[in-house]
Amino acid sequence: MKPAVTTTIALTGLLATLASPAQARPFNDPRAERMPAIEADAAFAGQPRDPACHTSTLASTGGALPASPSTLAIRWTGFANFELSYKGQIMLLDAYFDRGSLYPPLGFKADDVTRANVILIGHGHHDHMSDAASVGIRTGATIVGAPLTTAKLLSQKVDPQKLRTASGRESVVMDFGPFKVEPILGRHGEPPKTLVDAFGGALRATAPKPTEEQLAELAIIRSRGVQDPRVVTEGTLAYLITLDDGFRIMYRDSGGAVTDFEKSAMERAGGRVDVALVAVSASYLNTETVPRALEHVRTYKPDVYIPAHHDAAYNNLWRATEPLFQAVKDENPNIVTASRGYREPLCFNTEHNISRKR
Ligand SMILES: [Zn+2]
Repeated sequence: MKPAVTTTIALTGLLATLASPAQARPFNDPRAERMPAIEADAAFAGQPRDPACHTSTLASTGGALPASPSTLAIRWTGFANFELSYKGQIMLLDAYFDRGSLYPPLGFKADDVTRANVILIGHGHHDHMSDAASVGIRTGATIVGAPLTTAKLLSQKVDPQKLRTASGRESVVMDFGPFKVEPILGRHGEPPKTLVDAFGGALRATAPKPTEEQLAELAIIRSRGVQDPRVVTEGTLAYLITLDDGFRIMYRDSGGAVTDFEKSAMERAGGRVDVALVAVSASYLNTETVPRALEHVRTYKPDVYIPAHHDAAYNNLWRATEPLFQAVKDENPNIVTASRGYREPLCFNTEHNISRKR
């Protein structure tokens, strides 16, 4: 008798596994384990696997857009670049793709980006906007930036009709199809000089020296960005992006101090976002980067925290994200932390969002 009972239990278990709706669902929403409503959403689970959420080809370079109108795909493409695709529209956050041969390859070139509806530039340093003009001109996308950023784009032959300038000091909401965008004045990171000098010196002393060609290449890329010191206080925008179903994203491409403008924008928006895409501070030591990440997370109160600006040239140090994840979770175990490789999609079922009752 005993072996028969064991077999029955084993078979029942196997059948339950085979019948699991996880097989059919279009993708795994990173919030699913923390939010029973996503896990229990039968309509969502019944949809077929969505190619846009399982391939590493950007929608902007010809890859699939999400199949369902409630699916948002987010892809990180190095430094503070992200691609958002939603309801057939593509929004790029920052545009720094051709970084030069000292950097790890992203798997595509600026020339490959042929589709984009909107480009939001956080600030005008070259490592955030060096490809904004060429990509904007090729795709016909509207480009949003601070005055210093759009002045640079004008000098790069971008059609003035395609530019939207924002100081981020007043509450302005821009409509781009299914995306509503509020530019907010942030502040650029200001890593302590003692750290920059000490770590910069150590890296220069130990890393292979760039060749003359590599230096020339970097000089051209650098010339496509803004070098004005006012970028720190007047030229760095955070963006609050709200989808037409209420799903909210906060994007910040520099790990500087939170401003009063950001605090009031968050108050107006109900105090929370679904996803925060935030640059890791450039201060090298985790004793410096962790408190700054906590300041961002306490301000935006995201359900999902996704870091940015943590990769580096081959001869440099990537900024560690795990110490940030640990500190964020120590403070609030319900926050989901997520980081992916270049171009790998993170997909969200945006029907479930902070603006709605879950
Ligand atoms: Zn910068």
